[in-house]
Amino acid sequence: MTETKSLTLFNSLTRQLEPFQPVHAGEARVYSCGPTVYNYPHIGNMRAYVFADILGRTLSHAGYKLTHVINITDVGHLTDDADAGEDKMEKMARTQAQSIWDIAAHYTQAYWADIKALNIRQPAKWSIATDYVPQMIEFAEKIAPNHCYELESGLYFDVSTVSDYGRLARAVTDEGEGRIEAVEGKRNAADFAIWRKTPAGEKRQMEWDSPWGRGAPGWHLECSVMSGDLLGFPFDIHTGGIDHREIHHPNEIAQNQAFCCTNGLDVPANSGAKLWMHNNFLVERSGKMSKSSGEFLRLQLLIDKGYHPLGYRMMCLQAHYRSELEFSWEGLAAALVRLKRMIMVVERLGDVEPGDARHPKLAPMLETFEKAIGEDLNTAVALTALEEVLAAKKVDPGAKRAAIEAMDSVLGLDLFGTGRADLRIRPKTAEITEAEIEDVLVRRKAARAEKDFATSDALRDELAAKGVEAMDGDPLGWEWKLG
Ligand code: AMP
Ligand code: ZN
Repeated sequence: MTETKSLTLFNSLTRQLEPFQPVHAGEARVYSCGPTVYNYPHIGNMRAYVFADILGRTLSHAGYKLTHVINITDVGHLTDDADAGEDKMEKMARTQAQSIWDIAAHYTQAYWADIKALNIRQPAKWSIATDYVPQMIEFAEKIAPNHCYELESGLYFDVSTVSDYGRLARAVTDEGEGRIEAVEGKRNAADFAIWRKTPAGEKRQMEWDSPWGRGAPGWHLECSVMSGDLLGFPFDIHTGGIDHREIHHPNEIAQNQAFCCTNGLDVPANSGAKLWMHNNFLVERSGKMSKSSGEFLRLQLLIDKGYHPLGYRMMCLQAHYRSELEFSWEGLAAALVRLKRMIMVVERLGDVEPGDARHPKLAPMLETFEKAIGEDLNTAVALTALEEVLAAKKVDPGAKRAAIEAMDSVLGLDLFGTGRADLRIRPKTAEITEAEIEDVLVRRKAARAEKDFATSDALRDELAAKGVEAMDGDPLGWEWKLG
């Protein structure tokens, strides 16, 4: 068995840093709450998957055999995280006059495109919620006798039947009351639906028969079932955005406790996963990021405005995943420049064969890197260690390359697969092609060589008129940019 490195990770359950101790020696099993595919993800949502990717890469780098599952929620997520509102998928299908299956297929593809553009590794499995409905019914049947009650609208989970409900949220059960729309007959404010019956006289596009009538599973049930089914309880790490710490994950935990107990399984705290990890939010200056208000910050919008998507990945890595991160276009541009500086060094290294990274000059930098990433994924410090390696003088290029490759296998900035020119800012709306720009620049260079400054200036103005700024003597070698 390969040797594994020690890691410390922040567990939201205990609000403490804890050493990572795998359930199965040498393995790491991770489940990440995936998107509800009723709309495009915004870049805040994608921060959650950049975080999960860094976690997965770090576990792999530390020598663990990683099994990562991300789900795709194509049914059951209501417009409100509590039991209010309607199914997000049904609502979108109605407003767009399309079938739910088409909506799900379209937005799943869009999400996967973002995953790829951000150089997020493919998980071992994308689990699709609608593929697991029989297992969900089975799970619900097991826990129903001791933990659930039926109302006209569905089958509800009684949170008072499990110990310490809501410990993940650190909330008094009733605190959520204001946010949870009352459902007539609920025993506790925090009780939640695990099966929602289709109201009499109505027809849903997606519905299944169950012991509680025709209807659809609750969103929380889906994640309990898919994670347990694919990774086995208990598994190592469950991830999601910090909003899930308040309702979704406490409810998953309650279900897992009920399920594991009825099976007589002696699971640590019966929580399903040993570690629960949450990324903080990407926010806009105006507040919370949203798909409905203001400019909808999709990754594609960044790309259309001319920013390479890896600039956004860099932006995420510059902050610690547990800190809030404010999005700004200036911040994105700065992150892109930082990435470009790295890639310039890598391009200068050329095609040198990777050697042994353990060069005495690089050793302390590698150590700083390992320590940073191994202590709760401190990517901000890891980036500075990488920059030290890039700047190191008089080091065998092969050793340097090996060290950069090792670091980039964790950071995933694709330093060897991206060219400097790829990072040029070029909005989709630009009316001039790159070949045309290059052509003018070549003529301008020739004019300057002949000290024909009149022509050179005229060509510069010609470019400016088309929105191209020629950047003479730019130390970063951008040469031009589209404004
Ligand atoms: P959803 O599709 O709404 O279930 O969200 C997908 C993932 O994105 C979940 O893990 C959320 O917790 C997370 N998330 C939602 N908004 C943000 C945000 N602004 N910043 C970071 N993560 C977020
Ligand atoms: Zn989930």
